[in-house]
Amino acid sequence: AEAELRRKEALAAVGQATAQVAHEIKNPLGSIRLGVTLLRDMTTDERALSTIELLERGIEHLNKITLDVTRYSRHKPLSLSEVELQNLLEDSIMLVRDRLAEKRAHIERRYSAEPIHGLWDADQLQEVFVNLLVNALDASDDGKPIVVETRLIENSIAGGQAGRGWAVISIEDFGCGMDAATRARIFEPFFTTKKRGTGLGLAIVKRIVEEHGGKLEVESEVGKGTRFTIKLPLVAPVENTADRWASAPGGAPL
Ligand code: ADP
Ligand code: MG
Repeated sequence: AEAELRRKEALAAVGQATAQVAHEIKNPLGSIRLGVTLLRDMTTDERALSTIELLERGIEHLNKITLDVTRYSRHKPLSLSEVELQNLLEDSIMLVRDRLAEKRAHIERRYSAEPIHGLWDADQLQEVFVNLLVNALDASDDGKPIVVETRLIENSIAGGQAGRGWAVISIEDFGCGMDAATRARIFEPFFTTKKRGTGLGLAIVKRIVEEHGGKLEVESEVGKGTRFTIKLPLVAPVENTADRWASAPGGAPL
C-alpha cells in the first residue's frame, strides 16, 4: 500500500509537470500561429505557401497536444446537473459536423423512444461523445455511417433502488477495427496509432465514464468496425463532485 501510494504521488507529480509544460507552450504557440498567419498574407510564392501550410499543420498538432494534455492532467471534479441524453448527443454531433462533412459520413440515430434524463456532468460527457465520434470518423472510410444508439434500463429491470437505473449509449463505426494487441493498449495515455494522434482521447473518456460510476466496453473486429458502449448510472456518484472537493482539506485539485 505504501509503494502504491508513492507510485500514485509520483504519477501525480509527472502529471502536474506535464500540465505545466503544456501551459508554458500555449503563449509562444499563439505568437507562432499569429506570425504564420501574417506570413501567409505576405506572399503568393508557391513554395513559401506550401511551407506555410506545413507549419500550420504542425501548429494545429501542437495545439491539440497542449489542449489534450491540459484536459487530461487538470481534470475537474464532476459538476452535476440534470441532463437530457439525446440533446447532449445532438450537441456533440454538432461539434463534429465539419469532420462529418469532410468524410461524407452521416449519423444513424437509434435513440430510445422516451427521453433519458440523468444527473451528470454535461460538459465532460460531451467530451466523451466527441472523442468517440472523432475516433469513429478517423477509423472509417469516406461515406460510412456511424450508429449512435441509446437505451434506458430502468430500475425495475436493473433491480436497483427506486429512482435508479442506467443509460446505455453505444457508438458504432464500420471502419478499420483493431487487432487484439492494439485493443489492449487503447486506454493508455499517449498510446496512438495515428500520425497526428495524441493518444489521450480514450484515457480521458475512460476516466470521465468511471467518475460517473459508469462502465465502458469495446468490441472490435479488424476490417469490420468498432463499437464502444457506455453504461451510465442515471445519477452519478456524489463522491466525485465539486461539493466533495470543496470540503476536502486541500480544496479542489488543479
Ligand atoms: P488518438 O485518437 O489521438 O490516437 P485515442 O486515445 O482517442 O487517441 O485512441 C487511441 C487509439 O485507439 C487510436 O490511435 C486507435 O488506434 C485506436 N482507436 C480508437 N478508437 C478507434 C476506432 N473507433 N476504430 C479503430 N481504432 C480506434
Ligand atoms: Mg482520439
